[in-house]
Amino acid sequence: MDQGREFGDGTRVVHGGHPAPEGGTPLLPGPVFAAPYHLGETGPSGDFYGRAGNPTWRALESAIGDLDGGHCVLLPSGMAAISTVLRALLGVGDKLVLPSDGYYATRQFVTDEMAELSLRVREIATPGPWTVEVFAGARLVLLETPSNPGGDVCDIAELAARAHAAGALLAVDNTTATPLGQRPLELGADIVIASDTKALSGHSDLLLGHVSVRDEELAQRLLRARTLSGAIPAPFETWLAHRSMGTLDLRLARQAENAAALVDALDGHPKVTGLRWPGWSKDPSHELAARQMRRFGGVLRFELPDRAAVEEFLRRSELVVPATSFGGVHSTADRRAQFGDPVPEGFVRFSAGCEDPADLVADVLRALA
Ligand SMILES: *Cc1c(COP(=O)(O)O)cnc(C)c1O
Repeated sequence: MDQGREFGDGTRVVHGGHPAPEGGTPLLPGPVFAAPYHLGETGPSGDFYGRAGNPTWRALESAIGDLDGGHCVLLPSGMAAISTVLRALLGVGDKLVLPSDGYYATRQFVTDEMAELSLRVREIATPGPWTVEVFAGARLVLLETPSNPGGDVCDIAELAARAHAAGALLAVDNTTATPLGQRPLELGADIVIASDTKALSGHSDLLLGHVSVRDEELAQRLLRARTLSGAIPAPFETWLAHRSMGTLDLRLARQAENAAALVDALDGHPKVTGLRWPGWSKDPSHELAARQMRRFGGVLRFELPDRAAVEEFLRRSELVVPATSFGGVHSTADRRAQFGDPVPEGFVRFSAGCEDPADLVADVLRALA
Protein backbone atom coordinates (compact mmCIF):
# COMPACT_ATOMS: atom_id res chain seq x y z
CA MET A 1 0.00 0.00 0.00
CA ASP A 2 1.22 3.54 -0.77
CA GLN A 3 1.91 4.67 2.79
CA GLY A 4 2.41 8.29 1.71
CA ARG A 5 -1.26 8.66 0.87
CA GLU A 6 -3.74 9.28 3.70
CA PHE A 7 -6.28 6.50 3.46
CA GLY A 8 -9.06 6.16 6.05
CA ASP A 9 -8.84 3.78 9.02
CA GLY A 10 -11.00 1.06 7.43
CA THR A 11 -8.83 1.01 4.30
CA ARG A 12 -5.59 1.06 6.27
CA VAL A 13 -6.46 -1.90 8.50
CA VAL A 14 -7.60 -3.94 5.49
CA HIS A 15 -4.53 -3.24 3.33
CA GLY A 16 -1.79 -2.48 5.87
CA GLY A 17 1.28 -4.70 5.66
CA HIS A 18 0.01 -6.76 2.73
CA PRO A 19 2.35 -7.36 -0.21
CA ALA A 20 1.86 -5.61 -3.56
CA PRO A 21 -0.50 -7.56 -5.84
CA GLU A 22 1.34 -9.99 -8.05
CA GLY A 23 -0.29 -12.72 -10.18
CA GLY A 24 -0.35 -16.10 -8.51
CA THR A 25 0.69 -14.89 -5.04
CA PRO A 26 -1.66 -14.95 -2.03
CA LEU A 27 -3.39 -11.78 -0.78
CA LEU A 28 -2.20 -12.53 2.75
CA PRO A 29 0.78 -14.90 2.69
CA GLY A 30 0.76 -17.63 5.32
CA PRO A 31 2.91 -17.52 8.44
CA VAL A 32 6.62 -18.32 8.08
CA PHE A 33 7.71 -20.71 10.84
CA ALA A 34 11.38 -21.08 9.80
CA ALA A 35 14.10 -21.35 12.46
CA PRO A 36 17.17 -21.19 10.15
CA TYR A 37 17.07 -19.62 6.68
CA HIS A 38 19.35 -20.61 3.79
CA LEU A 39 22.53 -18.61 4.02
CA GLY A 40 24.21 -16.97 1.06
CA GLU A 41 22.72 -14.12 -0.96
CA THR A 42 19.92 -13.30 1.53
CA GLY A 43 18.31 -10.52 -0.51
CA PRO A 44 16.79 -7.43 1.09
CA SER A 45 15.27 -9.27 4.11
CA GLY A 46 18.64 -10.34 5.52
CA ASP A 47 16.86 -13.18 7.32
CA PHE A 48 19.19 -15.88 8.62
CA TYR A 49 17.64 -17.13 11.90
CA GLY A 50 14.06 -17.01 13.23
CA ARG A 51 14.82 -15.34 16.55
CA ALA A 52 16.41 -12.35 14.78
CA GLY A 53 13.96 -11.78 11.93
CA ASN A 54 10.75 -13.07 10.39
CA PRO A 55 8.71 -11.78 7.43
CA THR A 56 5.40 -12.49 9.21
CA TRP A 57 6.44 -10.13 12.04
CA ARG A 58 7.56 -7.46 9.58
CA ALA A 59 4.24 -7.52 7.73
CA LEU A 60 2.24 -6.79 10.90
CA GLU A 61 4.89 -4.37 12.20
CA SER A 62 4.59 -2.40 9.00
CA ALA A 63 0.77 -2.23 9.35
CA ILE A 64 0.76 -1.24 13.04
CA GLY A 65 3.75 1.11 12.70
CA ASP A 66 1.99 2.92 9.88
CA LEU A 67 -1.09 3.42 12.09
CA ASP A 68 0.91 4.45 15.19
CA GLY A 69 3.15 6.73 13.13
CA GLY A 70 6.44 5.13 14.22
CA HIS A 71 8.72 2.09 14.05
CA CYS A 72 6.86 -0.91 15.49
CA VAL A 73 8.50 -3.79 17.35
CA LEU A 74 6.20 -6.75 18.01
CA LEU A 75 6.51 -8.66 21.28
CA PRO A 76 4.80 -11.82 22.50
CA SER A 77 2.41 -10.05 24.93
CA GLY A 78 1.53 -6.64 26.30
CA MET A 79 3.61 -7.35 29.41
CA ALA A 80 6.57 -8.35 27.21
CA ALA A 81 6.22 -4.94 25.52
CA ILE A 82 6.08 -3.10 28.86
CA SER A 83 8.92 -5.05 30.48
CA THR A 84 11.16 -4.72 27.40
CA VAL A 85 10.75 -0.92 27.41
CA LEU A 86 11.36 -0.63 31.17
CA ARG A 87 14.42 -2.91 31.06
CA ALA A 88 15.87 -1.09 28.03
CA LEU A 89 15.48 2.43 29.41
CA LEU A 90 15.95 2.28 33.16
CA GLY A 91 19.19 2.04 35.11
CA VAL A 92 20.11 1.87 38.79
CA GLY A 93 18.38 4.55 40.88
CA ASP A 94 16.39 6.05 37.97
CA LYS A 95 13.05 7.70 38.68
CA LEU A 96 10.01 6.12 37.03
CA VAL A 97 6.51 7.64 37.06
CA LEU A 98 3.73 5.04 36.88
CA PRO A 99 -0.08 5.21 36.92
CA SER A 100 -1.41 4.10 40.34
CA ASP A 101 -4.75 3.22 38.69
CA GLY A 102 -3.43 1.47 35.57
CA TYR A 103 -2.81 -2.16 34.64
CA TYR A 104 -1.83 -3.92 37.88
CA ALA A 105 0.84 -6.20 36.42
CA THR A 106 2.94 -3.20 35.35
CA ARG A 107 3.26 -2.06 38.98
CA GLN A 108 3.86 -5.65 40.09
CA PHE A 109 6.62 -6.14 37.49
CA VAL A 110 8.42 -3.04 38.71
CA THR A 111 8.13 -4.06 42.36
CA ASP A 112 8.91 -7.76 42.01
CA GLU A 113 11.19 -8.02 38.95
CA MET A 114 13.13 -4.76 38.92
CA ALA A 115 13.90 -4.56 42.64
CA GLU A 116 17.65 -4.88 42.01
CA LEU A 117 17.65 -1.49 40.21
CA SER A 118 16.45 0.39 43.34
CA LEU A 119 14.25 2.55 41.11
CA ARG A 120 12.61 5.63 42.57
CA VAL A 121 9.00 4.89 41.67
CA ARG A 122 6.40 7.66 41.83
CA GLU A 123 2.83 6.39 41.42
CA ILE A 124 0.16 8.85 40.41
CA ALA A 125 -3.52 8.51 39.46
CA THR A 126 -4.32 9.17 35.80
CA PRO A 127 -6.34 12.36 36.50
CA GLY A 128 -3.40 13.76 38.54
CA PRO A 129 -2.56 16.03 40.32
CA TRP A 130 0.38 16.35 37.88
CA THR A 131 2.50 18.63 40.05
CA VAL A 132 6.02 19.79 39.15
CA GLU A 133 7.40 17.38 41.76
CA VAL A 134 6.00 14.38 39.82
CA PHE A 135 8.25 15.12 36.82
CA ALA A 136 11.32 16.38 38.69
CA GLY A 137 14.31 14.14 38.00
CA ALA A 138 12.26 11.50 36.15
CA ARG A 139 13.85 9.31 33.47
CA LEU A 140 10.58 7.83 32.18
CA VAL A 141 6.91 8.79 32.62
CA LEU A 142 4.41 6.06 31.73
CA LEU A 143 0.79 7.07 31.16
CA GLU A 144 -2.20 4.82 30.61
CA THR A 145 -5.11 6.65 29.01
CA PRO A 146 -7.92 5.72 29.09
CA SER A 147 -6.77 3.86 32.16
CA ASN A 148 -7.64 0.23 32.80
CA PRO A 149 -9.91 -0.40 34.64
CA GLY A 150 -11.12 3.08 35.66
CA GLY A 151 -11.43 4.70 32.24
CA ASP A 152 -9.83 7.95 33.38
CA VAL A 153 -8.06 10.15 30.86
CA CYS A 154 -5.03 12.46 30.98
CA ASP A 155 -3.71 15.03 28.53
CA ILE A 156 -0.97 13.32 26.50
CA ALA A 157 0.24 16.45 24.67
CA GLU A 158 0.52 18.54 27.82
CA LEU A 159 2.18 15.81 29.90
CA ALA A 160 4.61 14.97 27.05
CA ALA A 161 5.71 18.62 26.91
CA ARG A 162 6.18 18.69 30.68
CA ALA A 163 8.05 15.37 30.73
CA HIS A 164 10.39 16.61 27.98
CA ALA A 165 10.97 19.89 29.82
CA ALA A 166 12.06 17.80 32.84
CA GLY A 167 14.38 15.69 30.64
CA ALA A 168 12.18 12.56 30.78
CA LEU A 169 10.84 10.31 28.05
CA LEU A 170 7.08 9.86 27.83
CA ALA A 171 5.49 6.48 27.11
CA VAL A 172 1.77 5.74 26.76
CA ASP A 173 0.08 2.38 27.28
CA ASN A 174 -2.45 2.68 24.44
CA THR A 175 -4.11 -0.73 24.91
CA THR A 176 -7.65 0.46 25.62
CA ALA A 177 -7.69 2.94 22.71
CA THR A 178 -5.83 0.96 19.96
CA PRO A 179 -4.05 2.94 17.20
CA LEU A 180 -7.44 3.73 15.64
CA GLY A 181 -8.66 5.31 18.88
CA GLN A 182 -5.61 7.37 19.73
CA ARG A 183 -2.17 8.19 18.26
CA PRO A 184 0.09 9.10 21.20
CA LEU A 185 3.18 9.60 19.00
CA GLU A 186 1.33 12.32 17.06
CA LEU A 187 0.45 13.95 20.40
CA GLY A 188 4.11 14.17 21.43
CA ALA A 189 4.77 10.84 23.20
CA ASP A 190 8.12 9.14 22.53
CA ILE A 191 6.88 5.58 22.98
CA VAL A 192 3.54 3.84 22.55
CA ILE A 193 3.04 0.43 24.13
CA ALA A 194 0.05 -1.86 23.70
CA SER A 195 -1.36 -5.25 24.50
CA ASP A 196 -2.70 -6.43 21.14
CA THR A 197 -4.31 -9.30 23.02
CA LYS A 198 -7.26 -6.93 23.48
CA ALA A 199 -9.21 -5.05 20.79
CA LEU A 200 -6.47 -4.95 18.15
CA SER A 201 -6.63 -8.71 17.59
CA GLY A 202 -10.10 -8.77 19.15
CA HIS A 203 -11.13 -12.43 19.08
CA SER A 204 -9.96 -13.58 22.53
CA ASP A 205 -7.76 -16.24 20.96
CA LEU A 206 -4.17 -14.98 21.23
CA LEU A 207 -1.70 -12.91 23.21
CA LEU A 208 0.52 -10.31 21.53
CA GLY A 209 1.95 -6.87 22.19
CA HIS A 210 3.96 -4.14 20.53
CA VAL A 211 6.01 -1.02 21.08
CA SER A 212 6.14 1.81 18.54
CA VAL A 213 8.68 4.62 18.75
CA ARG A 214 9.58 7.61 16.59
CA ASP A 215 13.32 7.34 17.21
CA GLU A 216 15.08 4.92 14.85
CA GLU A 217 17.92 4.27 17.30
CA LEU A 218 15.51 3.36 20.10
CA ALA A 219 13.71 1.03 17.69
CA GLN A 220 17.00 -0.73 16.94
CA ARG A 221 17.69 -1.03 20.65
CA LEU A 222 14.31 -2.64 21.29
CA LEU A 223 14.83 -5.04 18.37
CA ARG A 224 18.17 -6.03 19.83
CA ALA A 225 16.56 -6.54 23.25
CA ARG A 226 13.98 -8.83 21.66
CA THR A 227 16.56 -10.85 19.75
CA LEU A 228 18.87 -11.29 22.73
CA SER A 229 16.21 -11.89 25.40
CA GLY A 230 14.62 -14.48 23.15
CA ALA A 231 11.11 -13.33 24.10
CA ILE A 232 9.82 -13.35 20.51
CA PRO A 233 6.27 -13.44 19.16
CA ALA A 234 5.05 -16.69 17.61
CA PRO A 235 4.62 -16.43 13.82
CA PHE A 236 1.18 -18.08 13.89
CA GLU A 237 -0.23 -15.65 16.50
CA THR A 238 1.32 -12.78 14.54
CA TRP A 239 -0.36 -13.93 11.35
CA LEU A 240 -3.69 -14.46 13.13
CA ALA A 241 -3.53 -10.95 14.61
CA HIS A 242 -2.79 -9.49 11.17
CA ARG A 243 -5.78 -11.34 9.72
CA SER A 244 -7.97 -10.18 12.62
CA MET A 245 -6.85 -6.56 12.34
CA GLY A 246 -8.60 -6.29 8.98
CA THR A 247 -11.91 -5.87 10.81
CA LEU A 248 -10.64 -3.56 13.58
CA ASP A 249 -12.44 -0.53 12.20
CA LEU A 250 -15.75 -2.43 11.93
CA ARG A 251 -15.40 -4.07 15.35
CA LEU A 252 -14.55 -0.84 17.16
CA ALA A 253 -17.48 0.91 15.52
CA ARG A 254 -19.94 -1.76 16.71
CA GLN A 255 -18.34 -1.94 20.16
CA ALA A 256 -18.66 1.83 20.57
CA GLU A 257 -22.25 1.72 19.32
CA ASN A 258 -23.00 -0.96 21.93
CA ALA A 259 -21.19 0.96 24.68
CA ALA A 260 -23.20 4.10 23.86
CA ALA A 261 -26.47 2.14 23.89
CA LEU A 262 -25.59 0.54 27.25
CA VAL A 263 -24.61 3.87 28.81
CA ASP A 264 -27.95 5.32 27.68
CA ALA A 265 -29.81 2.36 29.16
CA LEU A 266 -27.84 2.30 32.46
CA ASP A 267 -27.84 6.06 33.10
CA GLY A 268 -30.13 6.54 36.11
CA HIS A 269 -30.68 2.78 36.64
CA PRO A 270 -31.44 2.29 40.34
CA LYS A 271 -28.80 -0.46 40.83
CA VAL A 272 -26.02 1.26 38.87
CA THR A 273 -23.58 3.90 40.12
CA GLY A 274 -20.21 5.19 38.96
CA LEU A 275 -21.05 4.80 35.27
CA ARG A 276 -18.11 5.91 33.11
CA TRP A 277 -17.29 5.79 29.38
CA PRO A 278 -15.03 8.37 27.76
CA GLY A 279 -17.45 8.66 24.82
CA TRP A 280 -20.36 9.69 27.07
CA SER A 281 -21.14 13.41 27.05
CA LYS A 282 -21.74 13.32 30.84
CA ASP A 283 -18.40 11.62 31.63
CA PRO A 284 -15.97 13.88 33.52
CA SER A 285 -13.22 12.85 31.03
CA HIS A 286 -15.31 13.38 27.92
CA GLU A 287 -14.15 16.84 26.92
CA LEU A 288 -10.46 15.89 27.08
CA ALA A 289 -11.10 12.45 25.55
CA ALA A 290 -12.99 14.02 22.63
CA ARG A 291 -10.06 16.38 22.04
CA GLN A 292 -7.28 13.79 21.98
CA MET A 293 -9.02 10.57 20.95
CA ARG A 294 -10.20 9.69 17.46
CA ARG A 295 -12.90 7.29 18.69
CA PHE A 296 -13.88 5.68 22.00
CA GLY A 297 -14.13 1.89 21.74
CA GLY A 298 -16.33 -0.40 23.80
CA VAL A 299 -14.93 -0.48 27.35
CA LEU A 300 -17.12 1.08 30.05
CA ARG A 301 -17.37 0.59 33.77
CA PHE A 302 -19.97 0.85 36.50
CA GLU A 303 -20.64 -0.29 40.03
CA LEU A 304 -23.32 -2.58 41.44
CA PRO A 305 -24.00 -2.52 45.19
CA ASP A 306 -21.71 -5.45 46.09
CA ARG A 307 -20.03 -8.65 44.98
CA ALA A 308 -23.25 -10.70 45.21
CA ALA A 309 -25.06 -8.25 42.91
CA VAL A 310 -22.34 -8.66 40.25
CA GLU A 311 -22.44 -12.46 40.56
CA GLU A 312 -26.25 -12.42 40.28
CA PHE A 313 -26.03 -10.15 37.20
CA LEU A 314 -23.56 -12.47 35.49
CA ARG A 315 -25.62 -15.57 36.37
CA ARG A 316 -28.78 -14.08 34.87
CA SER A 317 -27.24 -12.69 31.69
CA GLU A 318 -27.38 -14.86 28.57
CA LEU A 319 -24.94 -12.81 26.49
CA VAL A 320 -22.41 -11.34 28.91
CA VAL A 321 -19.72 -13.78 29.98
CA PRO A 322 -17.57 -13.31 33.05
CA ALA A 323 -14.00 -13.04 31.80
CA THR A 324 -10.98 -10.88 32.33
CA SER A 325 -9.42 -9.18 29.29
CA PHE A 326 -11.53 -6.99 26.97
CA GLY A 327 -11.95 -5.80 23.40
CA GLY A 328 -13.22 -9.12 21.96
CA VAL A 329 -16.26 -9.77 19.78
CA HIS A 330 -18.11 -11.27 22.78
CA SER A 331 -19.36 -8.93 25.51
CA THR A 332 -17.56 -9.70 28.76
CA ALA A 333 -17.69 -8.35 32.30
CA ASP A 334 -14.96 -8.48 34.89
CA ARG A 335 -15.36 -7.84 38.63
CA ARG A 336 -11.94 -6.30 39.06
CA ALA A 337 -11.71 -6.56 42.86
CA GLN A 338 -11.21 -10.34 42.45
CA PHE A 339 -7.85 -9.59 40.76
CA GLY A 340 -6.75 -7.18 43.45
CA ASP A 341 -7.39 -3.85 41.69
CA PRO A 342 -7.90 -1.05 44.25
CA VAL A 343 -11.63 -0.72 43.43
CA PRO A 344 -14.93 -1.47 45.27
CA GLU A 345 -16.22 -5.09 45.41
CA GLY A 346 -19.09 -4.28 43.03
CA PHE A 347 -16.89 -2.57 40.39
CA VAL A 348 -17.46 -3.99 36.90
CA ARG A 349 -15.31 -3.40 33.84
CA PHE A 350 -17.62 -4.11 30.94
CA SER A 351 -16.33 -4.81 27.45
CA ALA A 352 -19.08 -4.31 24.88
CA GLY A 353 -18.73 -6.86 22.07
CA CYS A 354 -20.17 -6.97 18.57
CA GLU A 355 -23.62 -8.38 19.35
CA ASP A 356 -26.73 -6.57 18.07
CA PRO A 357 -27.22 -3.45 20.21
CA ALA A 358 -30.89 -4.18 20.92
CA ASP A 359 -30.12 -7.76 22.04
CA LEU A 360 -27.28 -6.67 24.29
CA VAL A 361 -29.17 -3.82 25.97
CA ALA A 362 -32.24 -6.02 26.53
CA ASP A 363 -30.09 -8.80 28.00
CA VAL A 364 -28.22 -6.47 30.37
CA LEU A 365 -31.42 -4.80 31.59
CA ARG A 366 -33.08 -8.18 32.11
CA ALA A 367 -30.09 -9.48 34.06
CA LEU A 368 -30.12 -6.39 36.28
CA ALA A 369 -33.89 -6.42 36.91
C1 LIG B 1 -3.93 -6.50 29.25
C2 LIG B 1 -3.13 -5.28 29.43
C3 LIG B 1 -1.74 -5.34 29.50
C4 LIG B 1 -0.98 -6.66 29.45
O1 LIG B 1 -1.15 -7.30 28.24
P1 LIG B 1 -0.92 -8.90 28.04
O2 LIG B 1 -1.09 -9.06 26.55
O3 LIG B 1 -1.94 -9.60 28.86
O4 LIG B 1 0.46 -9.19 28.50
C5 LIG B 1 -1.05 -4.16 29.63
N1 LIG B 1 -1.68 -2.98 29.71
C6 LIG B 1 -3.01 -2.88 29.67
C7 LIG B 1 -3.67 -1.54 29.78
C8 LIG B 1 -3.78 -4.03 29.53
O5 LIG B 1 -5.11 -3.93 29.52
